[in-house]
Amino acid sequence: MKKTIALIPGDGIGPDVIDEAVKVLNCVANKFGHEFTYKNVIAGGKAIDMFKNPLPKEQLDICLHADSVLLGAVGGPKWDNVDASIRPEKALLGLRGGMKVFANLRPAVMFPQLKNACPLKDEIVGDGIDILIVRELTGGIYFGERGNSSDGKTAWDTEKYTWDEIERIVRLGFEFAKKRRKILTVVDKANILNSSRLWRKVTESIKGEYPDVELNYLYIDNASMQLVRNPRQFDVIATSNMFGDILSDEASQITGSIGMLASASLGSGKGPGLYEPIHGSAPDIAGKNIANPLATILSVAMMLRYDFKMEEEALAVEKAVNDVLDEGWRTSDIAGDIEAVKAQGKLVGTKEMGSLVVEKI
Ligand code: NAD
Repeated sequence: MKKTIALIPGDGIGPDVIDEAVKVLNCVANKFGHEFTYKNVIAGGKAIDMFKNPLPKEQLDICLHADSVLLGAVGGPKWDNVDASIRPEKALLGLRGGMKVFANLRPAVMFPQLKNACPLKDEIVGDGIDILIVRELTGGIYFGERGNSSDGKTAWDTEKYTWDEIERIVRLGFEFAKKRRKILTVVDKANILNSSRLWRKVTESIKGEYPDVELNYLYIDNASMQLVRNPRQFDVIATSNMFGDILSDEASQITGSIGMLASASLGSGKGPGLYEPIHGSAPDIAGKNIANPLATILSVAMMLRYDFKMEEEALAVEKAVNDVLDEGWRTSDIAGDIEAVKAQGKLVGTKEMGSLVVEKI
């Protein structure tokens, strides 16, 4: 199969991890007989420097014309004080809105080999955590009407959802649950918020189409507590933009390793999806061959699965990552006892980790 992939290395460690992801993509292409062509996209801080705009239209257009988009990360201290209208994060919102990717999938998976990095007790973690959060990405309070009173003493933001915006997220939640452990939890604040009551109404109206999925509702306050008290009760969580933003960060932290977690943002399926590690640009370690590329490599697996329907290829990438971890290879962020890993000769840098995954594929 021939596919065009837009690459947005971005800033900080973005280029470091994207280089390794491309090595993995090239290896997959070779092994499975595909042809991947890459188009480079400049966005974030680098685009502010070059164009005074974090996501110029022609750069977004390259993404819209590609079959899929892979993003490293954007931002860094150099651009902390630029005008708010051109901050690097504007590139992220511009990409999500421009590409109309309304659902953010964030798997929070604890790799058993990295159990010591998990901050929770052994008896809570058991044989592992594997949660998929489906977060609404282009609606709700982050996009609702906002304002300030003329005296500057009042400010407001509005949580507003339409039936369709909710239905497409809840349906995705049901569909993923069907293929996993068959439990969907819809997280809301329906005891207080009108918009949350609409989430429940929509969910109730379609739940009959998914008789094999167990459906639960949880209020966001309870859900954030349950996530650390008993994370194994969760399979798929579907929720609004803001609740998903907060819960997915909490879920990623309990797996213990920010350098391991991938994400996908999907739209209607007619255009490309946006794939990226959940971590930021980590300016403290940029360009030093230290960053863990596995989150980006696992994002590539999601791209192969969701945009290209290449399940076998996706599994090959995921298995390769598992095999590398099984053999004890670690970048410093997942090493735990760094001296011990070093003594075993298993401490590796960004490039070596990418090459190890390639070898396993
Ligand atoms: P961060 O995720 O960049 O870094 C947090 C900590 O985790 C740092 O100590 C960093 O060294 C470490 N880390 C992150 N990724 C790692 C990896 N792959 N391997 C090893 N260690 C890793 O978060 P931050 O420090 O809050 O933000 C830094 C910059 O990134 C900011 O400018 C922020 O706005 C931006 N940011 C961008 C995105 C994005 O592009 N999607 C997301 C979050 C933050």
